[in-house]
Amino acid sequence: MLKKGLIILVIFILVGCDSILTDRPNENDRVDIRDGQKLKVGTDTQSNQPSGTITIHVTDEQVTRGNLVLVNKNHPLDPEAVPEDIVTLFENRDLMHGYVVLDNTIRLSHSVAEHFRNMIGAAGEDGVNHFMISSGYRDEDEQEQLYREKGSDYALPPGYSEHNLGLSMDIGSTQQSIDRSPEGKWLKEHAWAYGFILRYPQDKTKITGIQYEPWHFRYVGQPHSMIMKELNLTLEEYLDYLKDRSSYRTTVEGNEYEVKYVPVTSKDMEIEIPAESEYEISGNNMDGIIVTVQLNRVETK
Ligand SMILES: [Zn+2]
Repeated sequence: MLKKGLIILVIFILVGCDSILTDRPNENDRVDIRDGQKLKVGTDTQSNQPSGTITIHVTDEQVTRGNLVLVNKNHPLDPEAVPEDIVTLFENRDLMHGYVVLDNTIRLSHSVAEHFRNMIGAAGEDGVNHFMISSGYRDEDEQEQLYREKGSDYALPPGYSEHNLGLSMDIGSTQQSIDRSPEGKWLKEHAWAYGFILRYPQDKTKITGIQYEPWHFRYVGQPHSMIMKELNLTLEEYLDYLKDRSSYRTTVEGNEYEVKYVPVTSKDMEIEIPAESEYEISGNNMDGIIVTVQLNRVETK
């Protein structure tokens, strides 16, 4: 009941109270998708534009928000961009199936924790079931403390760590070190299918600027995680790749997607997307936004 209420509240905030009751957004509807949630939109028959498309309005604030924002030593996080659904896992036992947490203060974005739970459920079906989250969301004070205690070789300053974003977590095995454990091996192979990426791979330390971290995973969502695995790209490389290509079509697990980079050139922008499609918007935390449109949905058996 509470969850349903929350979802309705989130949709209400995202879409705005004036458009929640209509399937047909008009020219003046303002869609600000803070955390990259998906919305399905109907055909806009009221505006003067090519049939089969609708126009969405995006503000420049979107650059710093969403599942694809890059946070690293050159690109600090916008404090306003932290997802609003950060929860303490221990207090949300429905999210904690198939794994344990190192301590009862560990927090994460609720929606990411749902994806994580689903992924861990799949691992369990493969007989891999000794997962532990040892670190999740850290606020600026916690990051500051860690940075002071561990120094710059081990921790990033506040605002520069992906842990300040709420979309990343450190995953361990309760049995042995993660890089040698079945848990680590399973994640390395399968996490991509659930929207997660191994953020600091062994062969990409020059690009990420971070040592190999077999425990650190980041949620970016589908189809991005699968594309990144397929092309062997880090988040840094993937965002550059999208910018270079400008528009990219791909089929992932039977679903066809168009992924488009749109440079942010003004405070308010209009973007055309196919009508009747599910889409997601995320900033890159640099200079543009990524629009992901699912062109068809194939029912999987
Ligand atoms: Zn980490």
